[in-house]
Amino acid sequence: MLGQMMSQPLLISSLITHAERFHNAGQIHSVNTGGGMEETTWGQVGRNARALASALGKLGLAAQTRCGTIAWNNRRHLEIYFGVSGGGYVCHTINPRLFPEQLVYILNHAEDKVLFIDATFVPLVAAIRDKLEHLEHIVLMEADVGDAAEKLPGIIAYDDLIATGDAGFDWSDMDEHTASSLCYTSGTTGNPKGVLYSHRSTVLHSFGSNLADSIGMTARDVVLMVVPMFHVNAWGAPYASAMVGARIVLPGPGLDGASLVGLIDTYKVTVALGVPTIWLGLLGAAKAASSALTSLNRTVVGGSACPPSMISTFREEYDVEVIHAWGMTEMSPLGSVNQPLAKHADLPLEQQHTLRESQGRPVYGVDLEIWDDEGNPLPHDGKAQGDLVTRGQWILDSYFRATRDETLTNGWFDTGDVATMDGDGYVTIRDRSKDIIKSGGEWISSVELENIAIAHPKLADAAVIGAKHEKWDERPVLIAVNGPGETPSEEEILSIFEGKIAKWQVPDKVVWTDELPRNATGKVLKRTLRESFGDVLLG
Ligand code: AMP
Repeated sequence: MLGQMMSQPLLISSLITHAERFHNAGQIHSVNTGGGMEETTWGQVGRNARALASALGKLGLAAQTRCGTIAWNNRRHLEIYFGVSGGGYVCHTINPRLFPEQLVYILNHAEDKVLFIDATFVPLVAAIRDKLEHLEHIVLMEADVGDAAEKLPGIIAYDDLIATGDAGFDWSDMDEHTASSLCYTSGTTGNPKGVLYSHRSTVLHSFGSNLADSIGMTARDVVLMVVPMFHVNAWGAPYASAMVGARIVLPGPGLDGASLVGLIDTYKVTVALGVPTIWLGLLGAAKAASSALTSLNRTVVGGSACPPSMISTFREEYDVEVIHAWGMTEMSPLGSVNQPLAKHADLPLEQQHTLRESQGRPVYGVDLEIWDDEGNPLPHDGKAQGDLVTRGQWILDSYFRATRDETLTNGWFDTGDVATMDGDGYVTIRDRSKDIIKSGGEWISSVELENIAIAHPKLADAAVIGAKHEKWDERPVLIAVNGPGETPSEEEILSIFEGKIAKWQVPDKVVWTDELPRNATGKVLKRTLRESFGDVLLG
C-alpha cells in the first residue's frame, strides 16, 4: 500500500517561490563590484530570477545547458543561482582564482554556452575567450556593458538581458533528480573534477543545513555570506537562506577584515560563514576598529581546520559562538557540524569548550564511517584513525562524465581525509591522507601541530609538513610566517609545543617563509611546501 500524501518534486524554484511569497520584503544588501551598496528584496530577486529564466529560454538554449558564472557574491549572482537552475539549465559556478589553463579546461569540459561575469573578470575572460569551444553568450553582470565590449565584442549587459524576459515567468516543471548546478573541485593534482548537484540534493541539503543542530538559519537572522558563491554554492547558504527568508549581506569583492567588520556592524549581522583565514583578518580588523561585533552571535567556520585559539578568541572577546563544520565539494558540502549534546551541559566549562573544537557530528542525511586500509570499519573510540568515508542524500554518486565505479568504493565515497570518530559520532579530522606525517611507523597529525603553532603570538601563519628523514622516513617540519615586526628564534617557536603534545611529535626544525602558498580555495598547498622544504632534514 502506498501512502496517500501529495508528492511534490523538490525543486530549487520552490525555495525562491517561498521567499517571494512569504518574505517578499526580506532585504538583501549587496556590495557592488565597482563599490557602493545596493539594496533589494527577496521579492525582487525572485522576479528578476524569473525574468532571467525566461530570457535564457528566448536565447534558444536547450534544457540543461550549462551557464557558467565567474563572479563575486552579489545580488545578480543570487538571481543567477535561482534563475538558471529554476529555468531548467545548470548553474556552473567557476573559481576565478584558478590558473587560466584550468579555467579553459573547466569551461570546455562543462561545455558552457553562456558565461556570466563580473566586471573584475573581463580581462581574465578576454585572455582565454578564443579557447572556449562552446561559448556563445557572455553576459556582464552590470546595468550596461560600458567599455567591456572593447575587450569582449558581443558581450551583453545582464540588465538588458533580463529586460527581454518575463518577470511573471512560471517556473519549469521537472524531475527533482534533474541536474541543477555544477562545481569543479580545485584539486592540487590532476585536472579539476566536476560535481553535478541535483534539485533534490540541493533542497535536501538546505533542510539539513537549517536543522537547529546544524547551521540553523532563521527568518530572524542576518546572514553574511563570506564564503564565495564560486565555492560549493557558498556552502548552500543562498538556498538555505531563501528557505527561511533570512536577510542576506553579500560582500562583493572586498573580503578584507575591515570591510567585513563594517558590514557586520552596519547591517547587524547575526551569523557569518567563511574559512578560518578570513576570520583571522576579521579578528585583527575588529580589534583595530575597537568593534565589539555586538550583533554577531555565531560564525560558521569550515573549509580547513578551525584553530582552537580562534574559537576561544571569538568566545572570550566577542561572545560569538564558533560553529565548526566540515565538508567538501563532493558533499554539497555539509558533512558534520559541531553542536553539543544534552549530556555535555553537565561537564565543567573547560571540557565543554574543548568538545567544541572537533569537526562535529554527522548531520541527518549524511552517514560517516572510518575505515582501515582494507575497508574494514574501525572502532568509534576517538582514538582509532582511518579513512573517512561517506554516503548520503547530498553526496555525489559519480563525478561529472565519470562512472560510479570510478567514484565510489562499495557504495561509499572516500573523502581523502583521515579522521577519528568517538562514540557519539564526533569526528576529528587529523589530516588529508596524503599530508599525514609518517614518522617511524607512527602517524603525526599536521593539523594538530598547526593548531598549536598558529596560536603563537609572534607568528602570522604556520604549516607543518612531513620532511624526508633518513632514520624515521618522515619528520615534522614547521613552516613559519612571522607576524609583523617579529623575529622569533626556532627555540622560541618550538616552546609552544611543550606540554601540549608528546615530545617525539614536536617538529625537528622551523623554516621561515614570507607567505604560505595556497590553492584557489585558500587551502595551503602542502605539496608545494614539500617540494620546497621536503629535503631540509637530509644531510
Ligand atoms: P573543498 O572540496 O575544496 O571544500 O575541500 C574539502 C576538504 O577541505 C575536506 O576534504 C577537508 O580536507 C578540508 N576541510 C573542510 N572543512 C574542514 C574542517 N572543518 N577541518 C579540517 N579540514 C576541513
